[in-house]
Amino acid sequence: MVILTPALRRVGLAALLVAVLASSAPTQPAPPPADLVLLDARVLTVDEAFRTATALAVRDGRFAAVGSNDEVRRHIGATTRVIEGRGRTVVPGFIDSHVHALDVARAEAMQPFRNLRTVKEVQDWLRLETPKRPKGTWIWTPRTYPTRLREHRFPTRQELDAAAPDHPVVVDCAYAFALNTAALSAAGITRQTANPAGGAIVKDAAGEPTGLLRNAGAILARFRPAVEGMPLDMLERVHRQYLAAGITSVIERGATLQGFETYRQLKNAGRLQVRATVTIRVPEANDAATVERFVDTLPFKFGEGDEWLKAGPLKLVADGGILIGTSFMRKPFGRGGRELYAIDDPDDRGFLTLTPAQIAAAIAIIHRRGWQMVAHVTGDAGVDVVLDGIEAAQKQTPGPAGPPATDRRHTVIHGYFVNSESAARAARLGVLVDTQPAWHYKDGDALAQALGADRLAHFIGLKTLRQAGVEVAINTDHMFGLDSNDALNPFNPLLTIYSATTRRTESGRVLGPDEAVTRQDALRMMTSAAARFSFDEKHRGSIEAGKLGDFVILDDHFMTVPADRLRTMRADLTVVGGRVAFERARETERASKRERSGARLSERPEGTARGPRRE
Ligand SMILES: [Zn+2]
Repeated sequence: MVILTPALRRVGLAALLVAVLASSAPTQPAPPPADLVLLDARVLTVDEAFRTATALAVRDGRFAAVGSNDEVRRHIGATTRVIEGRGRTVVPGFIDSHVHALDVARAEAMQPFRNLRTVKEVQDWLRLETPKRPKGTWIWTPRTYPTRLREHRFPTRQELDAAAPDHPVVVDCAYAFALNTAALSAAGITRQTANPAGGAIVKDAAGEPTGLLRNAGAILARFRPAVEGMPLDMLERVHRQYLAAGITSVIERGATLQGFETYRQLKNAGRLQVRATVTIRVPEANDAATVERFVDTLPFKFGEGDEWLKAGPLKLVADGGILIGTSFMRKPFGRGGRELYAIDDPDDRGFLTLTPAQIAAAIAIIHRRGWQMVAHVTGDAGVDVVLDGIEAAQKQTPGPAGPPATDRRHTVIHGYFVNSESAARAARLGVLVDTQPAWHYKDGDALAQALGADRLAHFIGLKTLRQAGVEVAINTDHMFGLDSNDALNPFNPLLTIYSATTRRTESGRVLGPDEAVTRQDALRMMTSAAARFSFDEKHRGSIEAGKLGDFVILDDHFMTVPADRLRTMRADLTVVGGRVAFERARETERASKRERSGARLSERPEGTARGPRRE
């Protein structure tokens, strides 16, 4: 036996290591070195069998190996960045298949979002704003909904007058608007004003406008402040917030052609940091000839693009929203609609924004031209109409363009009031559902109070959809604000998963426990299943050799933490295509340095770290 001096021991160990490496693969040559290797982690691959692994390697943007430490160590070369997993859970990069990052950026650049939680907070916000603006200037509040105000109702005209008597005020509730007296008169809305097509100017018993407008946004369009151009810096900032939340891919769910162009500019400038598929909203969908012309003159084909930016589906809007009482429902809202929605008629059941014939005609054109069609539709009766349209379209002979007619993946967006009959029909037609569990969390309490807990039992009924065989993606519909938990809507993927798996509302009440899905299923709905919505299942959504190297290291054990911990879990590190795009430790360090020096946080992202650095 040879006694090793420290120096000899080093040499000996190196020789031994060479021997071990050689013997572990006697016939295989060493693979080319990876750009990034992660060891000692608990990797949830989210592959078909939901296998776990300990290590992974990424080379040229894609996973080169997924397996044990030993299997993956062979991929470490002189320039490989090696990350120690320290037993942490790793999941595929989250796919948020429904965001409005373009709108978030535009709104943020104009007026930073504030989450207003009570009517008084709306008033306080107005009292802060009015002195800053000349009398008579229009003021639009940050987006809010009656379900999200503690009072569970719209602010009244009188409450708005009290806070802002000299400025026209609009409380923006998306498809509904609450106006003060100055806004009514500036917009020329009087007791004589007729309802616009598909919309309503709400009037009291005496025939006076109450200040509430439903689906009548066109009347106010010219009073909306416009942003010149698109602030690319702000869009980039929104994307960085996504990376910090572990989101590596998004689907923009309703952009204009200009919005797509903005993404292209960002990409061409080398500043696109999350992968994006852009849904294009069809304007003037009420006229078939216009729809046809629009589809025929689109400057790109369906799915055109690359792994960073793709032209996505075409979007129609079929009804309104359940937060404001404009979803098209099979059964009326009933008496509960009075408080929450200010709807006096107990037989009101919302409405379609297009006629069934218009919806069917637009779907038929989109289908025939080879595009995937996605429809905003929240009420159960609205879903019936959209499924009618899809079924009729599928009976036609589509042209040769696009994916096969049997795999067009037309999608119901929202589809909140789930029943097993529509779910079975959607499954039979191959229709997918894109839906938002965090609305159950945020709005479930107010909706249960207004519509009854029974009706909420299957609200966003993921289990019913899955049991029927419908493919489901869960996502967030992020529209305003930069804070993942305080935005409208919160875009923390782990909050979405918390809601899908617990059915708990913000107050802690469990509504419709039978619709809860497992963590495994919920994770699929934000990764591998979500990838199918943009025809990307071969390239992303799971951690498998050959797929894009997108993954997230979480700060706790996803499969085993208590339910309450789920929604507070965070991404420690987010990797897109093998490049570390977000690192919490580094952000924290940078923030404290900034605090010490008073310097401004650099708006530029970190470059790719190079070299055989272990951390
Ligand atoms: Zn949306």
